[in-house]
Amino acid sequence: MLNPEENIELKNFTTFKIGGPARYFFRVRNLDEAREAFGFARLKRLPHFVLGGGSNLLASDEGFHGVIIKNELFGVSFTEAGDEEVEAVAGAGENWDAFVAESVRRGFYGLENLSGIPGTVGAAPIQNIGAYGAEVKDAIVSVEAIDSRTGALKAFTNADCRFAYRDSFFKTPEGKPFIVTAVRFRLKKSGVLNTEYKDLKNHFASAPKKNRALTLKTVRQAVLEIRRGKFPDLETCGTAGSFFKNPIISRQQFDDLKKQFPDLPGFPLDADSRGFQADSRGKNTPRVKVSLAWILDNVCELKGYQKGSMALFERQPIVAVNTGGASAEDAKRLAQEVAARVKEKTGIEVEWEVERL
Ligand SMILES: Cc1cc2nc3c(=O)[nH]c(=O)nc-3n(C[C@H](O)[C@H](O)[C@H](O)COP(=O)(O)OP(=O)(O)OC[C@H]3O[C@@H](n4cnc5c(N)ncnc54)[C@H](O)[C@@H]3O)c2cc1C
Repeated sequence: MLNPEENIELKNFTTFKIGGPARYFFRVRNLDEAREAFGFARLKRLPHFVLGGGSNLLASDEGFHGVIIKNELFGVSFTEAGDEEVEAVAGAGENWDAFVAESVRRGFYGLENLSGIPGTVGAAPIQNIGAYGAEVKDAIVSVEAIDSRTGALKAFTNADCRFAYRDSFFKTPEGKPFIVTAVRFRLKKSGVLNTEYKDLKNHFASAPKKNRALTLKTVRQAVLEIRRGKFPDLETCGTAGSFFKNPIISRQQFDDLKKQFPDLPGFPLDADSRGFQADSRGKNTPRVKVSLAWILDNVCELKGYQKGSMALFERQPIVAVNTGGASAEDAKRLAQEVAARVKEKTGIEVEWEVERL
């Protein structure tokens, strides 16, 4: 019989270092324990929330009057899948970056650009984590998850997951009842390294000649080094990484903004990343992802902006930082102010990337 811990401070389980007490808190290490925790929540008629590494979360100051299910489902395996590929299966509670490091150490291609992202394997498909020109969807074969309503285990194919930019089926109302228990990846034994992303390209171009060799290991090292400059140190302050998503706007709006801000970076989206949107006449219109960090810096002049104990990181303004002792209300106030400024200057409505609890 699994017993919950009680009144656990969520600020100790989120990288923002923010959040009041959770009424009940279970650490689940296998599928039966997960089912037991769901059963407990049902019995108490309380909501549940699945917690990974707490690195994409703003938990409220009041805490959570419900049942936290902390995912500690571990285990990683690598199996040959023909001459060219390997199938890797990782338990949802595994640390994401440790899994990436192990894949790189074994010489398998596919995850290296996603090095250094905090959190768990199980959360990776939820928002289809991405960085440096890569998205996890491109390596995922399937996702296993338990339906919290029935306890049944279900496998979702890559297509079932409906991946898009920082989005998936698991963020929809139908997907929310599922807790990811394991993720199955297809990695390559040899491959083409993707260093087209501007920061990576510049990194290798400016490295001393002897350090320019492109290998799995050097790409991982480069990503880790670039990230060290872009994100604050989690040991010394609180953050959940990018607070907002990069906005996706219509081509028309992008062209209009370009007239005002000729240097605004924009990335046209493919149709499979929901890059097309039906307009009022049902016609599909192309869409463009724009850099919010650029807008915050160059249009809103908010880089390094500080409000009480909350600030926008001086080296990457899309990253909100708790400089010490900030509350969830402080974070929300900063976010509202930033969103209002972006709206006023560009007409763009920004969306939170960070999940709220
Ligand atoms: C410094 C820093 C840098 C970051 N850089 C990036 C980046 O480059 N790219 C990027 O995409 N993200 C980035 N992030 C955000 C974050 O690391 C990712 O979103 C990560 O996948 C969150 O994992 P987690 O385990 O901490 O999830 P949590 O924060 O614990 O949870 C996030 C959401 O996922 C849900 N969830 C978690 N686990 C499961 C599960 N097993 N089943 C069902 N739902 C689940 C939770 O309920 C919650 O809604 C960064 C964060 C930080 C702090």
